[in-house]
Amino acid sequence: MQKGSIGVTTENIFPVIKKFLYSDHEIFLRELVSNAVDATQKLRTLASHGEFNGVLNDTSVSVTIDKDKGTLTVSDKGIGMTAEDIDKYINQIAFSGAEEFLAKYKNDANAIIGHFGLGFYSAFMVSKKVEIRTLSYKEGAKAMSWVCDGSPEYEMTEIEKAERGTDIILYIDDESKEFLEKSRIEALLKKYCRFLPVPIVCGKVQKWEKDKYVDTDEDNIINNVEPLWTKKPAELKDEDYIKFYHELHPGQDDPLFWIHLNVDFPFNLTGILYFPKIKNNIEINKNRIQLYCNQVYVTDQVEGVVPDFLMLLQGVIDSPDIPLNVSRSYLQSDANVKKISSHITKKVSSRLEEIAKKDRKNFEDKWNDIKLFIEYGMLTDEKFCESAMKYALFTDTEDKHFNFEEYKTLIKDTQTDKDGTLVYLYATNKEDQYTHINAATEKGYSVLMMDGQLDSHFIGMLEQKFEKSRFARVDADVISNLIPKDNKKESDITPLQRTIMTTLFKSQVPAMEKSDFFVSFEALTGDSHPIVLTQSEYMRRMKDMAAMQPGMSFYGDLPDSYNMIINTEHPVIKKVMNEAESALKDTVKPMEASLAETNNALEEIRKDDSKKDEASALEKKAEEIRNNENKAVSEYASSNDKVKQLVDIALLGNGLLKGEALNNFIKRSISLL
Ligand code: ADP
Repeated sequence: MQKGSIGVTTENIFPVIKKFLYSDHEIFLRELVSNAVDATQKLRTLASHGEFNGVLNDTSVSVTIDKDKGTLTVSDKGIGMTAEDIDKYINQIAFSGAEEFLAKYKNDANAIIGHFGLGFYSAFMVSKKVEIRTLSYKEGAKAMSWVCDGSPEYEMTEIEKAERGTDIILYIDDESKEFLEKSRIEALLKKYCRFLPVPIVCGKVQKWEKDKYVDTDEDNIINNVEPLWTKKPAELKDEDYIKFYHELHPGQDDPLFWIHLNVDFPFNLTGILYFPKIKNNIEINKNRIQLYCNQVYVTDQVEGVVPDFLMLLQGVIDSPDIPLNVSRSYLQSDANVKKISSHITKKVSSRLEEIAKKDRKNFEDKWNDIKLFIEYGMLTDEKFCESAMKYALFTDTEDKHFNFEEYKTLIKDTQTDKDGTLVYLYATNKEDQYTHINAATEKGYSVLMMDGQLDSHFIGMLEQKFEKSRFARVDADVISNLIPKDNKKESDITPLQRTIMTTLFKSQVPAMEKSDFFVSFEALTGDSHPIVLTQSEYMRRMKDMAAMQPGMSFYGDLPDSYNMIINTEHPVIKKVMNEAESALKDTVKPMEASLAETNNALEEIRKDDSKKDEASALEKKAEEIRNNENKAVSEYASSNDKVKQLVDIALLGNGLLKGEALNNFIKRSISLL
């Protein structure tokens, strides 16, 4: 028998393991089963090189619980260890700068365990005593037992063991009794070992007999030894991918697309990423990409490994280059991991490009579901944006799709304004903005639908990327101002008409909370609407942004301001204008004259600081004239059903006519019949 002291340079590693590594006790099982699988695979490799000639029939690893003895045993039929192996691999723990490191990472079990290759020693997180019973595959090897109770002393003795391989027997400590429950162990195995390449047996398959479950003779294998990502893409069919998706993420709709990753340079990486059909946000958090290292589950916290905008994808990534035991901060700073992240981005993008090219119909059909990923990616990842510009789609108001290049070609000739700027017209609501959309399409223009969650940001970005281009929402102005052309006709309205008409129409807008109306005049064509209501692009964007950013509440609190554009070419407007002018000119003309006179006098007086009193008297007078003028015009307007009708129709066309005003409109319309 050999007695010795484990070669750790710190006083005693075990109290550290027990005390500090409290967070993830359960990972001991992953570590031990991984070791058992490694030992099994090593033997397989030796056999395939002709260096092992024994029988290799059953290679399974088994996990057994003995409740009476309080033990949990992980057994393999792998290479086993000789006394020298134990000395070398178990007794000498390579340890450098240990204390420093422990101090730094004391709350991160994974980091410590991984860093020191302490996989086996994690057994002490849950055990008061650990025994190794092992027989090496080497000819003439003697079976050995190694026992350690958590102090740095161990005992090693020769034993009788008929079968090749290793049993790791954990005497579970009092605080860790949960690991003697079969259901707990089975759940852990399913979590960490679900896709290990060697069958993992946990008890027997049970069946219901009379009134209880009983064991059958069949081993209960908990893993799928050949998960789909380890196979060659050429051998797989769509059904296989879909089936595997449901195995990974039960209860989900079929995925939209998938990407089989298969990289061997400059690092090793396999995996399958799925674009899910997302129904709600809860599912996003539940079904994340799972990270594996040689088929051992590591984590589903893939921040850093996968770029942010692809966190919404599902599936698996497996890479031996991702350290098995890692802390998240470590992952994010690791150079290899960074390379992996940018590689995944590239792969995802080229796969999307390929689908867009080869299977455009399919791509278009699913565009609505993937649009969010792609826009988010384009907004946050410069490289991705560059490549996605090739296949990202625009959708017009007739649900037709175009890639950016196609769309530019489509609108280039018609929608370039007089300064050579290409104007992209868009709508955010097909119903509310119908009048404006219609006005644009009647002119032969195309209107895009930009109603997605990210579209307002997206538009801002595209304006930066596209040369000499501008986006304008269809209701931001009359169409001839949105895309100004050289041959624009100016309105020939006189100043007196302007004064009368402004008050005439403004006075008939029903009272509305937080809305301001401004009247302006345009010589649109005779077949355009008599009045067009628009909303300034700039103010609207400011308000939209304010809604998303708390700091900008100033803009958010401003009222919605609408521009009421009167079409002076429209026959009805002409008629209203002529009638109003003849009815009001005798009243308004002298008022305007005296208002002009007062204003001139006011201007003079203001130059002289000592005449403040006189100035305020004149100001009062001017205001009085304006009030009287307003009153006269409003009185006339309120008896004019045509003006009211025109205003209401314009409001109605923008979905702004509601409640009492709408009711009045209906009544008035009926009475006009
Ligand atoms: P790591 O697995 O990271 O090398 P461990 O502490 O888990 O670190 O294991 C140390 C070494 O002990 C392994 O590299 C292996 O050589 C040996 N070992 C552990 N478990 C087994 C086993 N079940 N069968 C054979 N050798 C094993």
